[in-house]
Amino acid sequence: MFIDYETFRTRADALTAQIVAACRSAGRDPRSAVLLPVTKTHPAAAAEYVAHYGLPAVGENRVQEALEKRAQVTTPLRWELIGHLQSNKAKLAALHCDRVQSVDSEKLLRQLDRVAGELGKKLPVLLQINAGNDPAKFGAEPADAPRLLETALSLAHLQVDGLMTIAPLGTTPEETTTFAHRTFANLRTIRDDLVLRSGRPLHELSMGMTGDFAVAIAEGSTIVRVGTALFGTR
Ligand SMILES: *Cc1c(COP(=O)(O)O)cnc(C)c1O
Repeated sequence: MFIDYETFRTRADALTAQIVAACRSAGRDPRSAVLLPVTKTHPAAAAEYVAHYGLPAVGENRVQEALEKRAQVTTPLRWELIGHLQSNKAKLAALHCDRVQSVDSEKLLRQLDRVAGELGKKLPVLLQINAGNDPAKFGAEPADAPRLLETALSLAHLQVDGLMTIAPLGTTPEETTTFAHRTFANLRTIRDDLVLRSGRPLHELSMGMTGDFAVAIAEGSTIVRVGTALFGTR
């Protein structure tokens, strides 16, 4: 059985307090890191809870699941795609997602630009970079980031808000934390470098999940994508 709203509210309050604390100990404005609840595998009620709580957006990792849930939720909410997107699903994503965080190839960029153009909209995107050099993770290679950004900036129907990454898991909690610090610091360095080269702000750094959001905030995350701490295990 899915959790009730009170349980969600208690967890969201606790998580928000932890995010604020992490910002403070990093000397950051507490409003500079936002919570993106990840509702994947959970019922549409999860997204309703998020909207009722007053948060503006949810993250889903599959387009099909996002659009089915979105149809059931009446409260206004932004839907962000955070999972790998195949280019044959680009049209569905551009139609039903308010931002795609997982853009990791030129092919996908061009596909999304084309369908966004057909829909007469400008689609916000983040470029997913494999900043932890994890063979098991999606995301463009860090070395390819400048070319990917150059392509993205040349496309009229896309708006590049920043970068996204997922840290690799270690074999121990200590190693996982070390990997997380390294990966997130690397993404920030990549971002700073891209900003220098392109002159674009690239404000968003989407990094950090249930296990590593505090580390991510210490390394400059502006969006933490949290599922398990809010909705329980999947
Ligand atoms: C599932 C998922 C999350 C949330 O992970 P939790 O560990 O449940 O907080 C964050 N980001 C991406 C890309 C995901 O697929």
